[in-house]
Amino acid sequence: QSQELSEGRIDYHAALLALQEHGTRMVCTGKMHTDRICRFDYLCYCSEAEEFVFFYSNSSVMLPNLGPRRFQPALLDLSSVEDHNTQYFNFLELPAGALKFMPKPVFVPDVTLIMNRFNPDNLMHVFHDDLLPAFYTMKQYLDLDDEARLVFMEGWGEGPYFDLYRLLSGKQPLLKEQLKNFGKLMCFTKSYVGLSKMTTWYQYGFVQPQGPKANILVSGNEVRQFAKIMMERMNITGQEDTAKEGDGTEEEQEKGKREDYIVVFSRSTTRLILNEAELIMALAQEFQMRVLTVSLEEQSFASIVQVISGASMLFSMHGAQLVTALFLPRGAAVVELFPYAVNPEQYTPYKTLASLPGMDLQYVSWRNSMEENTVTHPDRPWDQGGIVHLEKEEQERIQVSKDVPRHLCCRNPEWLYRIYQDTLVDIPSLLEVLKEGLKTRPSVKKNKAASTVHPGRVREPQCQTSVQATNEAKLTVSWQIPWNLKFLKVREVKYEVWIQEQGENTYMPYILPQLNYTFSENIKPFTTYLVWVRCIFNKSLLGPFADVLMCRT
Ligand code: UDP
Repeated sequence: QSQELSEGRIDYHAALLALQEHGTRMVCTGKMHTDRICRFDYLCYCSEAEEFVFFYSNSSVMLPNLGPRRFQPALLDLSSVEDHNTQYFNFLELPAGALKFMPKPVFVPDVTLIMNRFNPDNLMHVFHDDLLPAFYTMKQYLDLDDEARLVFMEGWGEGPYFDLYRLLSGKQPLLKEQLKNFGKLMCFTKSYVGLSKMTTWYQYGFVQPQGPKANILVSGNEVRQFAKIMMERMNITGQEDTAKEGDGTEEEQEKGKREDYIVVFSRSTTRLILNEAELIMALAQEFQMRVLTVSLEEQSFASIVQVISGASMLFSMHGAQLVTALFLPRGAAVVELFPYAVNPEQYTPYKTLASLPGMDLQYVSWRNSMEENTVTHPDRPWDQGGIVHLEKEEQERIQVSKDVPRHLCCRNPEWLYRIYQDTLVDIPSLLEVLKEGLKTRPSVKKNKAASTVHPGRVREPQCQTSVQATNEAKLTVSWQIPWNLKFLKVREVKYEVWIQEQGENTYMPYILPQLNYTFSENIKPFTTYLVWVRCIFNKSLLGPFADVLMCRT
């Protein structure tokens, strides 16, 4: 295997000399261990010690040079899950001179991304924690291209979704376990360590109950770009591309349009929908659409994505398979079903995904509120929701509870008991929430993003004042359109003006359609007003305020 890695692509002698002379070099981004990614020349890994090694020499570089703070608590997070103490990265230090007493290093010529997968057995974790972050980390560093080598250091086996990780680069990813096959000392010529957290939208509840991340930095656009490229690499032709685009005549639209259909994503081992056939019939009847089912147990992942990428609605029990909503076309609806006593508001990884700005998906949740329609599994192992290992009293308390109280991840027995229930879906109540929750009939929209261009600053803001009487004054504010507006077709352009009397801590906001306005109400003579003006496109796209105006009446 070491042959495969270094084959003719590296001058071994030169590499060894460089390592001995220059040692390891590290330059990182990020102020904190939680937002850090480091780039290394000649980072080594000692498989015997299971440690990364930094070789010091006269020309080695270590930025940031944290001294012992490097261990408080770590240099960086190796997974995209923030500050998890099982995911820390650090290295040992050795003088380059020690190389003389060590096994001969094997050099890895590929540019390498070294990271941890967080939970490669679970599809939500695979996409949210690993694939999206790795994809965009690779976009951040140009040399992490299709030839890059990924190395997964969390120590797990390939797992059921390894083929998805293979899509990230043209080279086979390496597992920690495999590194020892390359020899006792392995040196990565060029490597990056750590993952960008920019694309993650959910925190799993390690320190506070699970929920959307506080400061989400990703939009549907980036998720969709990722989805598109993953589909290309899976050799899936998006349904949207195959649908012929007419020139707008109804006939042509009709020809180009495929049939709308609904997908039910079914789970076959746990958290079952007990009346799936009835559900499918009811949906077909209600929406007059074909209903297809998919399941991870019965189909290839690519074929599931192919189906989902053309669906108008996706129904599923809460669960990791719902992350595939990221392959839905714009305009589609996600309908997430929750078992008895589980509050949909508290478990929102898929709602948050569907609601990312620019995802253009509708989202509706339904919750089983009829206890007679739930089937519990108290006798199963604890990790599938069994509770028989608990004290009798605690078992009874859990069994009569109607709502799982807020809890932390990941072993709360009441949560596991409830989330692993099977459910007989009450059709009338489901149709009721759909009627209420769906704003428009879900359907596959043309692959066109809603405009997301923000207004620039308004230009040449000015004010003029006049005093009418001892208790009467006027304030006229005018401005010009933002510079970028002349290049845009915007449905609705409005301006917002804030007027604040100097020294007061409140202000009066006004929304105006025109480019000037004379204020006379609440305007006092011989007073200084601070005036801010900004432009707003389509009610929600806010521009920046122009420099504040000081207007003295
Ligand atoms: N899974 C599945 N069918 C099942 C049960 C689970 O395909 O009947 C998949 C699920 O989508 C996830 C993995 O197996 O990728 C682990 O499921 P688990 O119930 O542990 O996690 P959850 O879905 O609650 O995140």
